[in-house]
Amino acid sequence: MSHDRIPLAGVIGSPVAHSKSPRLHTHWLKVHGLQGHYIPMDIVSDDLETALRTLPKLGFVGVNVTIPHKEAVMKIADIITDRAALIGAANTLIFRKDGKIHADNTDGYGFIENLRQNAPDWDPKAGPAAVLGAGGAARAVVASLLDVGVPEILISNRTRARAEALAQDFGARLTVVEWVQAGNMLEDASTIVNTTSLGMVGKPELRVPLDGLRAGQVVNDLVYAPLQTRLLREAQDMGCTVVDGLGMLLHQAVPAFERWFGVRPEVDAATRAAVLR
Ligand code: NAP
Repeated sequence: MSHDRIPLAGVIGSPVAHSKSPRLHTHWLKVHGLQGHYIPMDIVSDDLETALRTLPKLGFVGVNVTIPHKEAVMKIADIITDRAALIGAANTLIFRKDGKIHADNTDGYGFIENLRQNAPDWDPKAGPAAVLGAGGAARAVVASLLDVGVPEILISNRTRARAEALAQDFGARLTVVEWVQAGNMLEDASTIVNTTSLGMVGKPELRVPLDGLRAGQVVNDLVYAPLQTRLLREAQDMGCTVVDGLGMLLHQAVPAFERWFGVRPEVDAATRAAVLR
């Protein structure tokens, strides 16, 4: 690639029109006065490999990956970080100068940084964590909770087998709880995380009984549309520390932006406002 090419990045998925990432990266490019563009690209599965091998030749320095390609890109990438391998999915690709595709997963990083920023007194070691859901996002959440020293994780999922598989992969600190008993695991938890899509616009409401919530717990919902879900509203009423899901989306983008454009951006009120606009 010649030196005067303007760096391009983007997000690949299908559908991708709703993605907030273009606003986010474009905001940071502007704040830092950098040349570059970030483009949403709707790419179907049959075209994924061809697209990934072609994008670097067009001047792309990397892309974010969203549904449905997060697992599939792992088979195409040449280099995979340990955390992406552990999760089994990648959300960030870096197109290296030597032609190799480097795959990383920054969702867990974004999850932890969001909690650190918005619940500064959060102590992961204070007690067990309760995790609702066992999909792709749950894998990143569980991996990073274990990484920061949560002593025990109670996990509950509608499809129990998926939670069992996760417990198998991540080991002895995980205990699977029946979905109909998910409410019971909240009582003893210091950290509570919803990783299901329940409560999101267009999805059913999260119906897990929430009377186990109590003051002092840190409660995080990965859903960010709406920003205030039923879980967060009830947790707030109980005096819990609540953290919405938007911060995770913002923070997971920080390492990617830094790798692609050479500046480490801040996640601040202006960043949130730019994405919500
Ligand atoms: P996924 O792999 O499809 O997993 C979906 C999860 O939701 C599974 O645990 C699934 O349970 C559960 N679920 C869906 N419909 C349900 C229903 N009707 N009743 C009970 N459980 C139901 O998706 P994902 O990638 O993990 O994403 C999950 C959510 O996290 C999405 O809302 C996504 O937008 C959000 N997310 C946010 C961020 C962020 O940056 N804030 C990052 C990643 C993901 P089953 O296994 O039983 O189907």
